[in-house]
Amino acid sequence: MVEGPTAKAYAVKISRGFRGEVVKSVFVRSKRIFIPVERLVGKKFLNADSFGKNIVLLFDGIAVRLHLMMYGTIHIYGKDEPLLKPEERVRLRIEGEARKLVVYNAPIVEINEKESLLKTLREGLGPDPLSNEWDRSKAVKNIMGFPDDKIGVILLNQSVIAGIGNILRNEILFRAKVHPERRVKDLSYEELERIVEFSESLSKEFLKLKLEGKKIKSILFVYNRYRKPCKVCGKPIRYYMQEPIKRKTFVCDQCQK
Ligand SMILES: [Zn+2]
Repeated sequence: MVEGPTAKAYAVKISRGFRGEVVKSVFVRSKRIFIPVERLVGKKFLNADSFGKNIVLLFDGIAVRLHLMMYGTIHIYGKDEPLLKPEERVRLRIEGEARKLVVYNAPIVEINEKESLLKTLREGLGPDPLSNEWDRSKAVKNIMGFPDDKIGVILLNQSVIAGIGNILRNEILFRAKVHPERRVKDLSYEELERIVEFSESLSKEFLKLKLEGKKIKSILFVYNRYRKPCKVCGKPIRYYMQEPIKRKTFVCDQCQK
């Protein structure tokens, strides 16, 4: 599953790898095409950026939003290079003069006027720890807007903080020493601040590893460590499905209160 840092790393890679290309042709398979795709032809690729877990390709006046979910991938090929995956998995192919950008299996490919696409995206998302507009106090305030929800559930809500996926959620709560089953209204302000601070620091560490092409295992203290000893207290990590979201949850009952 793509989390914010993976989306940001993709955006950096695409910005470098597809820089300066002028669109020659476009093929797209999606229901979210809100303008004639031919309008992309002749446009120069400006850059890519991430908004939470979304990746956005920016052209003059036009934007393409991608959400990769579980199985989507993005590749950049030379102009005459053969595709690595079967043609039927292609959701988007943008051919430039020297390179082509190919998106496989992505469940969301949206093409629209840049302003309208970015406006809708920004309105639906909470502050993003990897964006220049990251705002810690806004993030704390957003969490407090759901007093009756479990903190483990609310951290996945993209309108609260953008870009947190299941790996980050588990690791943030472990670092903050907060149990995922606790209700937001029962958390102290200091605990909420800790959660938000770790949302930022862990997202940044995760991104750094991704950009260096390294595995993220070094930052995993609880995720996928069922029955392994806690790195802080030595007790075995417990695993369960958190309700009602039914997501894999890893916890140290000794360290997380
Ligand atoms: Zn522990």
